[in-house]
Amino acid sequence: AARLNAISSITTAPAYESGIDFIANPTSSVWGENVFSLNEMAQRLPKATFKSLKKTITSGDALDISTADAVAEAMKAWALAKGATHYAHVFYPLTGLTAEKHDSFFDPDGDGGTIATFSGTALIQGEPDGSSFPNGGIRQTFEARGYTIWDVTSPAYIIENPNGTTLCIPTAFVSWTGEALDKKTPVLRSMQALNDQTQRVLKFFGTDGPFVSATAGAEQEYFLIDNHFYYNRPDLLACGRTLFGSPPPKGQEFDDHYFGAIPERVQSFMFEVERECFKLGIPTKTRHNEVAPGQFEIAPVYEYANVATDHQQMLMTTLKKVAAKYGMACLMHEKPFAGVNGSGKHVNFSMGSSAAGNLFDPGDTPAENAQFLVFCTAMISAVYKHAKLLRSVVASASNDHRLGANEAPPAILSIFLGDELNEIMEAIVNGDTVTSKKSTLSLGVDVIPTIPKHSGDRNRTSPMAFTGNRFEFRAVGSNQSIAGPMVAMNTIMAEALDEAASHLEASDTSTPEKLGGAVEGYIKKVWGECSSVVFNGDGYSDDWHEEAARRGLPNLKTTADAVGVLLEPKYTELFGKYGVLSERELHSRYEVYAEQYIASVNVESNLVVEMAKTIVFPAAVRYQGELASSLASLKAIGIEADHTTISEITDLIKKLQGGIATLEALKSAEHDQGEVAAHCLFIKDKILPQMLDIRGVVDALEGLIADDLWPLPTFQEMLYIK
Ligand code: ADP
Ligand code: MG
Repeated sequence: AARLNAISSITTAPAYESGIDFIANPTSSVWGENVFSLNEMAQRLPKATFKSLKKTITSGDALDISTADAVAEAMKAWALAKGATHYAHVFYPLTGLTAEKHDSFFDPDGDGGTIATFSGTALIQGEPDGSSFPNGGIRQTFEARGYTIWDVTSPAYIIENPNGTTLCIPTAFVSWTGEALDKKTPVLRSMQALNDQTQRVLKFFGTDGPFVSATAGAEQEYFLIDNHFYYNRPDLLACGRTLFGSPPPKGQEFDDHYFGAIPERVQSFMFEVERECFKLGIPTKTRHNEVAPGQFEIAPVYEYANVATDHQQMLMTTLKKVAAKYGMACLMHEKPFAGVNGSGKHVNFSMGSSAAGNLFDPGDTPAENAQFLVFCTAMISAVYKHAKLLRSVVASASNDHRLGANEAPPAILSIFLGDELNEIMEAIVNGDTVTSKKSTLSLGVDVIPTIPKHSGDRNRTSPMAFTGNRFEFRAVGSNQSIAGPMVAMNTIMAEALDEAASHLEASDTSTPEKLGGAVEGYIKKVWGECSSVVFNGDGYSDDWHEEAARRGLPNLKTTADAVGVLLEPKYTELFGKYGVLSERELHSRYEVYAEQYIASVNVESNLVVEMAKTIVFPAAVRYQGELASSLASLKAIGIEADHTTISEITDLIKKLQGGIATLEALKSAEHDQGEVAAHCLFIKDKILPQMLDIRGVVDALEGLIADDLWPLPTFQEMLYIK
């Protein structure tokens, strides 16, 4: 009955109002109003202080500590004027979530009043009592101190609540020994490493100097469902996905949702999300319906990777917050509903500087194209050498349901170049004539071909696709922080560019012709070793799985297979060499991610047992009882009715009980699995399949039991009633 009440509450609810006058106060007018931006700083800081701070922000120079007091004072004045009473150091622990510790600006002044204070020290460093964040063994209780350290490169901002506002300061979270306990620290380190190696390459093209930053633009997919349904599904509440439920009679087969008209309530929600994002300086750009019913997407304009990473977290928080205001839950789980598409987060990645431009953008001159080809080639080399790492950084219990499910790229990491770029690469390697759409060029040492810009072909089945002026990493899950993928991409590119630079440094590059020859040499070398990772076909096809196996490409299907990659000596060496993560830090990450996998599936299996016993079983027995009394009554008046349905129900009830007993037995054996790696495999091989088994039985019962007795909101209802 709760389920049917939910439906009637939704259909009779008044329209949700934002209470905002969008005409008098257009969203464009609130841009950045809650950000302590460079502009704001320029107005509030002494000139010299501002100059020094700006240098740190834009060129990665070390922070001049002596400026901190002045900045803190200015930040405080700005925040108080915006109604703030507290400031919070915001940080990103390894859970992938956002954490914050709030402190009041106000202290008693000793004369019966209060005074607002905020020192440079308080700005730079905080000490949250974060001892229960996962740290993978880095912090013993006797050394439990963790510090939050101000990240100057990411702007401070104000978070509004109807009852007050808070100044938020983005920080890195480290142990007292300086080890990273968070997701931000390695992003910053890896950006530094990428810049260092890129400069060496750019020297050859005369475009070195200004800081080269990685850029990222993440497309976020999500589902929206009404809160009445959400609160009636313990699985959605606790796990973010439905553990039971059969696909709706009408799914996505008509492709009628994709880019379709956006429902009114969702549209209102989107307007307000965009407005909140604009206030925070998050440049949201596109919005549309996605493939599955009830599924949508939002994407911002790309930004520097460190800022984009923070903004992505803020965007996820905003989506959830605003959805609640409109009576909906925003689901960012990778696979909330079996049988319809799941959600990803496509991370568009490039790198560039004011002097060098976008390094994945083909240029107009042979020299620019030579530079472009070096960077593309480095990318091919990086993805080939580190396919397993890229797989590992997108691994999670939830993303396992999506990767390889013929809706998302497979767990096999390949790279898509598109026909035109592929032809150019092959022609260079074979010394052939290159025919591009624009012109025909014979390739000599002195000529690098014209490369068509923004070539139209798109491949939606590749985990790493070249899309004209950037690469799109499509295997990232909708629920994940983009920090892990950014760290991996930056670091493996740093290594590949290190090799490219070494190749060029060892070659004769004294004339433009000779430099062209050296570039060709580098391309040939990499292509010879790495071209097996290039795949321009359909990544969803079975043929590709066979072909990839023939090519010897790794296929780490699940998190249990992929999480251990971080422990390989190759990665201790790589991350150590570029100063991104120490062996201890890497190891701690492995521990935390493996534990998270175990913990998530554990919650799910607990719920499968509980929901099967207390929600599904009672409904089945009630219906069985109804059928039984109806049959008995019929028999009493001399009618022998058909027993098929009651036999089926009885049979399924027995299977349900058996399935639950088996899962419970497996769960108690779980504690004997000892080591983390073995435990992960046990979960993958035993627990998850048994959960699916039970789901099969429950979904069959859903198809038999009288609708007014079925307790759980159905997919049909959740996906279509808005
Ligand atoms: P599509 O759905 O066609 O892939 P979208 O417009 O939804 O395109 O998303 C493309 C994303 O790529 C946007 O976030 C955009 O800002 C980003 N992007 C564009 N150029 C770059 C770049 N040089 N570096 C990083 N991201 C980029
Ligand atoms: Mg895209």
